[in-house]
Amino acid sequence: MHDIIIIGGGPAGLTAAIYSLRAGKSVLVIERENTGGQIVYSPLIENYPALSRISGAEFAQQLTSQVEELGAAIEYSEAHSVLKKEFGYTVLTDMGGFDCKSVIIATGVRHRRLNIEGEQSLVGAGISYCAVCDGAFFRNRSVAVAGGGNSALTEALFLANFCKKVTLIVRRDVLRGEACYADKLFAKDNVSILFNSNIKDFIRDDRKLTGLILKDNITDQQFVLDIDGLFIAIGREPQSETFADVSQMDEKGYFVTREDMSADREGIFIAGDCRKKPVRQLTTAVSDGAIAGIFASRYIDSLK
Ligand code: NAP
Repeated sequence: MHDIIIIGGGPAGLTAAIYSLRAGKSVLVIERENTGGQIVYSPLIENYPALSRISGAEFAQQLTSQVEELGAAIEYSEAHSVLKKEFGYTVLTDMGGFDCKSVIIATGVRHRRLNIEGEQSLVGAGISYCAVCDGAFFRNRSVAVAGGGNSALTEALFLANFCKKVTLIVRRDVLRGEACYADKLFAKDNVSILFNSNIKDFIRDDRKLTGLILKDNITDQQFVLDIDGLFIAIGREPQSETFADVSQMDEKGYFVTREDMSADREGIFIAGDCRKKPVRQLTTAVSDGAIAGIFASRYIDSLK
């Protein structure tokens, strides 16, 4: 039996692992895809204290190495449920069940979809949710980025380095993202911003995206934007539905926790972006992870 099973190997989950391991607990991290979570896809992190410039991939790699060196086991598998046993919990995964005394859920968020017909079938054929992953396919070509938050701004800035033209499509007349990114974007010759615009439909040639039908929300006029690629960066939604029984959720599906990250069910803690909170940043994810690791360890000590 492990002391603590952490579901999700992003910054929150891995930081929880560091604090749990340093408190002398045995830790199993269960991760569905790659460790590092969403931060892996961030081209450049410039707002993490004491690290003025580091790529998301480098940050994730260093964090994973740190956790492995401290002695965590990492299982690459999908967790499906957390079952209460007489003593502790069993986490059921694709690879079978794993027993533990305490569980930390750090499942993070996933990309929100536009939910326009054909969106899913165009992924990999012109539509992407990750400029770092797929941007290179669009070198010297024209792309659009949907969204006006920090994700959209940083994706657009990254793409502007090598794409012929980048058009940011924003549904309101203001950006939600930070001024420091907006100022950099405004200074780029190959970037234009369409405010008050919504994507209504996709234009395709065979199976490939070739353009967008947009609607100006002020005039109600529809118009066509020819593009080779569309990067959708319109926010994220919590990956919480699998573990809906462990804690209350808010109306958007984010887990509601106490200040010590504890869930409604005793011995279960929740950390990171999947939790209801006012600010979702790398710094707040690792903060949650530290608190969850400390309080899960204290919970185990209280069982003795
Ligand atoms: P976000 O801040 O929620 O912004 C989402 C953007 O997409 C908003 O402009 C929103 O418009 C728009 N949008 C939402 N649904 C839409 C739809 N159906 N159609 C068209 N537009 C839609 O999400 P995010 O940019 O992914 O950022 C998430 C969190 O990560 C934020 O806290 C952000 O600060 C953080 N983040 C930080 C950095 C960094 O370097 N500091 C980088 C990336 C992300 P409205 O404004 O009209 O709602």
